[in-house]
Amino acid sequence: MSNILVTGGAGYIGSHTVHQLLQRGYNVTVLDDLSTGFRDAVPEPRLHICSLFDTEQVTQLLVRQKIDAVVHFAAFIAVGESTKEPEKYFTNNVAGSLSLFSAMAAAGVKKLVFSSTAAVYGNPVSTPILETATIAPVNPYGETKATVERALVWLDQCRGLRSVRLRYFNACGANAEAGLSERHVPETHLIPLLLKAVVTGQPMTIFGTDYPTADGTCIRDYIHVDDLAAAHIAAIEHLLGDGESDVFNVGTGRGFSVREVLAAVENVTGKPVPHVFGDRREGDPAELVADSSKLRSRLGWRPEYTELERIVASAWPSEQRRWA
Ligand code: UDP
Repeated sequence: MSNILVTGGAGYIGSHTVHQLLQRGYNVTVLDDLSTGFRDAVPEPRLHICSLFDTEQVTQLLVRQKIDAVVHFAAFIAVGESTKEPEKYFTNNVAGSLSLFSAMAAAGVKKLVFSSTAAVYGNPVSTPILETATIAPVNPYGETKATVERALVWLDQCRGLRSVRLRYFNACGANAEAGLSERHVPETHLIPLLLKAVVTGQPMTIFGTDYPTADGTCIRDYIHVDDLAAAHIAAIEHLLGDGESDVFNVGTGRGFSVREVLAAVENVTGKPVPHVFGDRREGDPAELVADSSKLRSRLGWRPEYTELERIVASAWPSEQRRWA
């Protein structure tokens, strides 16, 4: 089986992907600086604690482990923080990625799956969003991902680095059987915060009720983290089979409003969600829903979690422990 390096493999989506890679028999090496990831999310001997900026050490790791392909998750992901500390985001997400790509060039590794985001589209003109939609990020986080995407297009042309860029919509849920879960600090995502409110009794805030949507709250495409992980496996297989560079949206294609997610949480937990209504959060587009037909038709991917309640239920056990 092929040897795969996963950067950021101790993080939320990274650890779920590592788990699936191992289940499929890949030899997996994880590189993580543990700045936001968790040591216990990765089987111990596979974890190499190292900074992406240490190009020399990363090169040696790629050579020593005879890496065939890299899955690159390691990045800062908080949109709000990125607007307050843009330099931190450009340094880590862009310069860190370039250091990795230099190491890959030095080690002769020519296949990469890159963790991108629907945030590259900014405020889309229409939804569902196709991969051909205009790239116009509305926050520094999205801009860092769009910048790396552009660099990858050139690295393919200039150096033959084949990459698949996956633009995630709203990652959520957990693989409870594998003991994996979402543990962002601070937590800013909707589903964990709704479940937190149920556990603690402290109200969460719904950001904005005056959006141009049916119930006035924002609509998002909630994609289970295991379905996201499966998209990475499909992308690796595409590249290992000598497929061309490409870009894909990863979402279910179905949107839910904040109020609908709240109702799903109440159904799953059997308890009311304490909540208050607040102002809009800066930089939130009204509606982000993926057109994922390209990923379905080209790579044969299908989401298994198509019901919001199943997604919420998968997160409920770990969120109960987390906020108790
Ligand atoms: N949201 C909310 N209250 C919160 C957190 C999020 O109303 O405490 C809303 C947010 O405005 C957005 C949706 O929930 O419309 C999803 O937000 P999240 O931060 O989970 O993901 P994002 O869409 O920002 O990637």
